[in-house]
Amino acid sequence: FDVHGAPIIGQDEKLKDIVLVFHDITELKKLEQTRKDFVANVSHELKTPVTSLKGFTETLLDGAMHDEDLREKFLTIIAKESERLEVLISDLLELSRIEGEHFNLNWEEVDLAVLTSEVTTMLADKAKEKDMNLYTKTDGNVKVLADSARLKQVLINLINNAIVYTPQGGDIRIRVRGQEENVVIEVSDTGIGITKKEIPRIFERFYRVDRARSRNSGGTGLGLAIVKHLAEAHHAKISVDSKPGKGTTFRLELSRKPFEEKE
Ligand code: ADP
Repeated sequence: FDVHGAPIIGQDEKLKDIVLVFHDITELKKLEQTRKDFVANVSHELKTPVTSLKGFTETLLDGAMHDEDLREKFLTIIAKESERLEVLISDLLELSRIEGEHFNLNWEEVDLAVLTSEVTTMLADKAKEKDMNLYTKTDGNVKVLADSARLKQVLINLINNAIVYTPQGGDIRIRVRGQEENVVIEVSDTGIGITKKEIPRIFERFYRVDRARSRNSGGTGLGLAIVKHLAEAHHAKISVDSKPGKGTTFRLELSRKPFEEKE
């Protein structure tokens, strides 16, 4: 509580009363803590690749660059870490744009059959590298009002995660169903799954069930936070169903009339 007090003086100039005002600042404190945690997380996430870039560059300058094998090895690490840094910064910028006051969606009619096929084509090589099949099944009229670029980002993040968190040889299924009032997109994998306890946390910024696994696969820990914000901006519902060791399904339910829902 935040407490303010003021004396009430009577006409005889004697203290008559004291007024105390109690302000419940729990929410404010929580917000402040979230902001502090976020800054600490960002600093840590930025520092890790920078430390590594600095270390390998110094080692090269100290003489390692005269050894051809070491030079190649260290430069490869430097290139990989620079790329991580770039992805992290662009995810952070994207998140701050989405969370910004002036963020607006570019509403247009989007055919989810077309959008899904664009995304699966984009990620086909990545799936192939892990011997995975990407199956897509679409039925009904799957046109909705949405921001095509942003919705594409949602699908990329979900399908990319499905590939990353599924062992070699698994299957990814993308199901798009046109219902009377909604269009439902499901991305299912046969991967490592997520425990019930962890499901609510995975949409938090920088939360990862397994930090090392996420890092190794180029993850920033921001993908699902971006998905959650973009789903909310579309007035869409997102849900997760998962069985550890068996697989996960992410389900996105888009309303055909997103504006009416808002009212
Ligand atoms: P990251 O960059 O770490 O993948 P995300 O925000 O996309 O960050 O996801 C947060 C965490 O949720 C991941 O680190 C992972 O632990 C978990 N996760 C996301 N998608 C899946 C999935 N399809 N299967 C299992 N775990 C997942």
